Amino acid sequence: MEADLEDKRLVLVSNGEPYKHVYRNQDIEIEKLAGGLTTGLDPVMQKNKGLWIAWGRGEADFEVVNQNNKVMVPDEDGYPLKRIELTDKEKNNFYYGFANEVMWPISHTFISKANFKEEYWQSYQKVNQKYAKSIKEELKEDDLVWIHDYHLTLVPGLLEESNTKTSLFWHIPWPAWEAFRTIPWREEILEGMLAADFLAFHTDLFVYNFLNCAKKIGAEVDFSNKEIFYQNSKTKVESVPLGIDFQRFNNLAKDDDYLAQAESVKASYDTEKLIFAVDRLDYTKGIEERLKGIDRFFEKYPEYQTEATFVQRVAPSRMGIEEYQQMKERIEKKVAEINGKYQKDQWVPVKYFYGSVPQAELLPYYKAADLALITALIDGMNLVAKEYLAVQDLGVLLLSEFAGAAEYLDSALKVNPYNTEALADSIYQGLEMSETEKEKRLQQAKADLKEYDINWWRDYFLKKWVESYE
Ligand code: UDP
Repeated sequence: MEADLEDKRLVLVSNGEPYKHVYRNQDIEIEKLAGGLTTGLDPVMQKNKGLWIAWGRGEADFEVVNQNNKVMVPDEDGYPLKRIELTDKEKNNFYYGFANEVMWPISHTFISKANFKEEYWQSYQKVNQKYAKSIKEELKEDDLVWIHDYHLTLVPGLLEESNTKTSLFWHIPWPAWEAFRTIPWREEILEGMLAADFLAFHTDLFVYNFLNCAKKIGAEVDFSNKEIFYQNSKTKVESVPLGIDFQRFNNLAKDDDYLAQAESVKASYDTEKLIFAVDRLDYTKGIEERLKGIDRFFEKYPEYQTEATFVQRVAPSRMGIEEYQQMKERIEKKVAEINGKYQKDQWVPVKYFYGSVPQAELLPYYKAADLALITALIDGMNLVAKEYLAVQDLGVLLLSEFAGAAEYLDSALKVNPYNTEALADSIYQGLEMSETEKEKRLQQAKADLKEYDINWWRDYFLKKWVESYE
């Protein structure tokens, strides 16, 4: 299903950029940023020769741009990337402030963690205007503008006069009205988004929540056709779950070098069973709940003491926010407590690593792990879950019911991460699962991951968007 853009130019707008420029000794080099967005959208941009507009965060980003802040990526034969420059104050108030202390906690239904500061909102509006101005400078007739995520909700509204086709993909959960209504600027945010022709979320639940929020601010909502009529414009809403680059992970799983790396990872832990988790440091990921489950598991199933080792990798994230620093301290205290309780001879039950690693270094762990533990308290999708399954041929995924991915991975073991007893029991069940059962589950999961991969996501989004205004 190749998306037919009918020769229209695609203008992609996101907070994160697909490539950054960095200093390497005396030189400036270009680096591709790993992650779903770049993987899925870079190929279509290379082909379409569209324009990507994003915040330039690389240390040498503005050394290489022309007077319009544009640079061709990955090289002269690629496509233009236009970089938005943010001041330190904007980084603090727009990015750390409004995006990460208002939109993030509220979208994940952590109302008590939100910080509704007026200066954050002022900055959010200013940065959205900055983006809109920058987009307008570039717009040509018939351009399609595809906006991404919670950083840029006001942009569709700010582009309305230009009569351009706009869409927005929302990468995190959309909350119930009970949470969303707490935002003092809820109408402005929804009004901004409802100026888009097409909006998509990962799951039907997020779509329903959004339709309901629109209704609450007075829009006319057709729940069965997922259409919203507001201020003389129509917005179509769909669920379009983000997939992974299945082909890449599947090929990797057959690569000799990779398999050797995975074996050496497993050997380095000198353990019968390796349980693995990796997350950005975030309260939505349920790292503390997971550690409680691990504690209970070693207590309830002592036969696994010395037989199983839990490797927890945590990637630093948003350390400018106090809440995140405190959480890191609590996690490290709990790890020390578990290790103090069960450690025997050479065996340490929890091996904890703090630090971000390139994805290539992470991937051997996926293969080496007998069980992957994903206990998100809420998550838009969770790509780690999908990546783990794509390289495995005998592993078990224990997946939180509350991750978007759980809606699409019937074959994973599901758990409520708040239920410590169930977590401990499910870890046990996963480690005890028969080979036939594991293979059966993996086969089903891989077939789904292959069909609904990152290319499917992109093409289906574009197809549904085009249909929405034809
Ligand atoms: N990842 C990485 N290095 C790390 C931790 C994570 O490259 O140290 C990657 C991981 O492979 C995955 C992505 O970052 O592709 C995380 O996506 P996910 O949806 O699981 O969570 P998010 O961090 O976006 O909330």
